Amino acid sequence: MTFQKEPFYTFKEYIGQYFSSPVQKVSVNAGNTCPNRDGTKGYGGCTYCNVSSFSPAYTMSKSSISDQVENGISFFSHKKINPSFLVYFQSYSNSYGSLQYLKKQFEEALSNTKIKGLIIGTRPDCVTTELMEILQRISEKHYVGIELGIESTLNRTLKKINRCHTYEETLDAFELIKKYNVHTGGHIIIGLPGETSENIISHAKKISCLPIHTLKIHHLQIIRQTIMDFQYKKNKNDFSFRSPEEYIQLMSEFLTWLRPDIAVERFISQAPGEMLIAPNWNGIKNFQITHKIREYMQSVKKYQGMNLSHFECISTPEKIIRTPEF
Ligand code: SF4
Repeated sequence: MTFQKEPFYTFKEYIGQYFSSPVQKVSVNAGNTCPNRDGTKGYGGCTYCNVSSFSPAYTMSKSSISDQVENGISFFSHKKINPSFLVYFQSYSNSYGSLQYLKKQFEEALSNTKIKGLIIGTRPDCVTTELMEILQRISEKHYVGIELGIESTLNRTLKKINRCHTYEETLDAFELIKKYNVHTGGHIIIGLPGETSENIISHAKKISCLPIHTLKIHHLQIIRQTIMDFQYKKNKNDFSFRSPEEYIQLMSEFLTWLRPDIAVERFISQAPGEMLIAPNWNGIKNFQITHKIREYMQSVKKYQGMNLSHFECISTPEKIIRTPEF
C-alpha cells in the first residue's frame, strides 16, 4: 500500500466511508463507574486516571443523557455544516453495569433524531456476549463502535499502572467482538513508566495482529489528583518524557510497524492546562502534532505499515462492516 496524499491512514478517511457529511462526536458522561474504582477489580482506579481530565465541560453536570446530547449538538452545530452526530460514551467504563440499564442509556442517546450512532468506550474485561448482542441489534439501524482501552501490551506495565486486567483479557475481548457487526477500536498510551522505545514499537506489531479498525494514541500525561501525580512527585526518575520532536520521530517509526488498514484517530492527549503536571509541551494540539508527523514521514519517505511486509502476523478484520447508509 502506498500513500499518495497521506503517509498514514486517518480516522477522518475511515469514518468518511460511512457518512455523507462530516462526523462530529458528542461526548456524554453517563454517570457509570468502572470495576477498577468500585472494588470489583480494584480501588482508586488506574494510576493515571482522573476522569475530569478527558471529559468535556458540557458532560460534567449531573444532567441526563438527553440533555447532554442536546447541549453537545448545540455546542458543535455552529462549527460544522450539517454534521452527522455520534454519541461517544467516554467517561468511565460504559459497558459496565446491568444490561437493562446500559440498553436504556443507549436508547436514550439514540432517541435524538440527529444522532446517527454510538461509540462505546470501555475496558476489555467489561465486554460480554450479551452486551455485544445488544450492540449488534443497534447496528442494524445505526453506526456502532466499541473502543477498548488496551493501554499497553505488556502485563508488567498493566500491573504497574493498576489496570487490573491482563493483555490476554484484551485479546479475548477482541476475539469476542470480531464476531459482531461493529466498528472496533483500541486505545494505547505511549510513554508509560518502564517502557522503552523498543517496547513501544512492539506494541505496534502486536496491535497489528488485533482485529481492529481504528486506534487512538495518547502520550502519557501526569494529571493532578491521580495516583501517578503522587508517584511522580515522590520519584521523578521513574518517569521519562520525550520532547515533541522525539515523540514525532517515535510515532513515525511506530506507524511503519502498524497495519496499514488501521485508521489512526489521534496522536496525543490534550488535558486542560490547569490539570496537567507533565510533560510541558506548551499546549501543543493534536492537529499540530498530526501535521508534524505527516511532514516528517513525508520528508524521510516513511509510510504506515512499510516494515510489515515480512512480519509473521498480519491479520485484518475478517469482516467488512455492513452499516446502513447515513
Ligand atoms: S482509566 Fe478507565 S478503567 Fe481506569 S480507572 Fe479510569 S475509568 Fe476506570
